[in-house]
Amino acid sequence: MKKDTQIIHLGRSPHKNFGFVNPPVYHGSTVLFKTLADYEAGERDYYDFEKLPVNEYCSPTYGRYGSPSSIELQKALTVLEGADYSILTSSGVSAFTAALMGLLRAGDHLLMVDSVYGPTRRLCNDELTRFGVEVTYYDPMIGGSIEQLFKPNTRVVYVESPGSLTFEVQDIPAIAKAARARGIAVMADNTWGTFYFSKPYDLGVDVSIHSATKYIAGHSDMVMGLITCRKEYYEPILRCFRHMGACLGANEVYLAQRGLRTMPVRIRQQEKTALELAKWLKTQPEVVKVLHPALPDCPGHEIWKRDFSGSSGLFSILLKPFPNKQLAAMLDGLHHFGMGYSWGGYESLIIPFNPKKIRTATKWEYDGICLRINVGLEDIEDLKQDLADGLKRLRGA
Ligand SMILES: *Cc1c(COP(=O)(O)O)cnc(C)c1O
Repeated sequence: MKKDTQIIHLGRSPHKNFGFVNPPVYHGSTVLFKTLADYEAGERDYYDFEKLPVNEYCSPTYGRYGSPSSIELQKALTVLEGADYSILTSSGVSAFTAALMGLLRAGDHLLMVDSVYGPTRRLCNDELTRFGVEVTYYDPMIGGSIEQLFKPNTRVVYVESPGSLTFEVQDIPAIAKAARARGIAVMADNTWGTFYFSKPYDLGVDVSIHSATKYIAGHSDMVMGLITCRKEYYEPILRCFRHMGACLGANEVYLAQRGLRTMPVRIRQQEKTALELAKWLKTQPEVVKVLHPALPDCPGHEIWKRDFSGSSGLFSILLKPFPNKQLAAMLDGLHHFGMGYSWGGYESLIIPFNPKKIRTATKWEYDGICLRINVGLEDIEDLKQDLADGLKRLRGA
């Protein structure tokens, strides 16, 4: 099956469900055992991580451990991403938290990309260091030279390609090659590319995490995370995830199943509109630079061409410096672009950001305005007009 057909068929079994096309929602905490022998076997299976064969999951014995529907969805996402295993979690944040805490211990060294998503950085600085993990930030464009930052205790290299504010595309194969030679795990945040446009395991990644809140859900109506990994990393990550108790709710499983079916059409449409808007924005006098991996002046554009098959609907623009009052006039008056966090939904969004205050390994040289744009499913002409009017207000007209 081709990718689009797989996305339609995987993770649901209508004829095990009275012919109903969509999987049932299992609301539940208690799961009953028929006999004492079943009860004892359930306990054993659940904690015997090492006995789990690849692509098999023990059947859930309690609501926190999943449901038949969440296991089906996990299996589907495992295939789509090309991993050995996957774990669904309560949020993107709990996905990277469980993955990092599962693989790191006191005294270990973590290499973290300087362009990483803000809350990942906060986890490192506020929590991981408190538990004795040493964290070094590195330049997203470092490539194979990451080797020079390896220490005897380096355990994980974390990549996020492209960075979800500044869009540097990382040379993951070069990083993975260096890491593999030293037995260091490569963990990737694959939320932007998704399994639709990127194949992290072909690039050498060992663990891939997602905010399923974004393109998989696609409707700004839920929060969910996904961890996928190679076999050898499943046990420590699963254990940590279970101890965190960061499971997801029954309705979220259903909404993610539903979102998944239309993801290809949404993401391709958003990609098309985003690229056209990005090119148009480039021609506007207030715009200094457009940071979009599919445009040649984005750092790592050549790597994007080699490693990705598409570009989703999230990018940033750098504007000339203007007084904050004029920026407020631009943003407050927009009709189609809402100001709010998250992305990947059907509605367009825009937020200002300032990497200067965040970076430590690299210097953000630009002093003007930075805006991140999430392109939704509206008609492009309406979006263009909204931004054109906004830019007019920005220059004080
Ligand atoms: C949103 C986001 C996350 C966190 O996901 P939540 O589902 O909001 O917890 C992680 N990484 C990236 C790149 C994100 O944009």
